[in-house]
Amino acid sequence: MDPIERLSRIFERFPGIGPRQANRFVAYLLRSSPSLRRELVESVQQLGGSVHQCQECMRYHAGDSKLCNICSNPERDHEHLAIVASDTDLAALERSGTYRGQYFVLGGTISLASEKTSGLRIQQLLRTLPERQLGGLEEIILAFPANPEGDATAVRVREDIMVHAPDLRVTALGRGLSTGSELEYADPETLKNALDNRR
Ligand SMILES: [Zn+2]
Repeated sequence: MDPIERLSRIFERFPGIGPRQANRFVAYLLRSSPSLRRELVESVQQLGGSVHQCQECMRYHAGDSKLCNICSNPERDHEHLAIVASDTDLAALERSGTYRGQYFVLGGTISLASEKTSGLRIQQLLRTLPERQLGGLEEIILAFPANPEGDATAVRVREDIMVHAPDLRVTALGRGLSTGSELEYADPETLKNALDNRR
């Protein structure tokens, strides 16, 4: 296959990227310097080698340790656990700079078309709750995107937590977030307010 077309096909598989955008990425790479292309190739190669999934929060992190730098940080509190859909949402909450608790990455949101929860780590989350409660967990903060899928996921996760750990407080981000917005595009101040106004 033509190398231009080959790369374009790869970009097309990325979330939210269509053929036109894929072509624009390739065109950009064609115009850019050899050093940028080399940097891209090296970064992609390094993803395979030195990136691991954290055993606590399930996000991907660079390094060889079992736990990421958030989960292994003794300064962070164990009273709060924020459930997020994705690694990028976790990063967005981190950037807001106010949250000092723990995280758990669910791995997506419920698809309204199928109502399927397969691929989501709900059971895995529930299994860790007794131990987390022994470690001081008091409140679970549902931090899903402000869209129908995010809302459906929050309802489901809240119900499951109620059954497994009825004495936990379960809150959700306040809707300072505009409807439909992804956490990753929300500015830090908005996220800070959403955290402060959780209920
Ligand atoms: Zn972690």
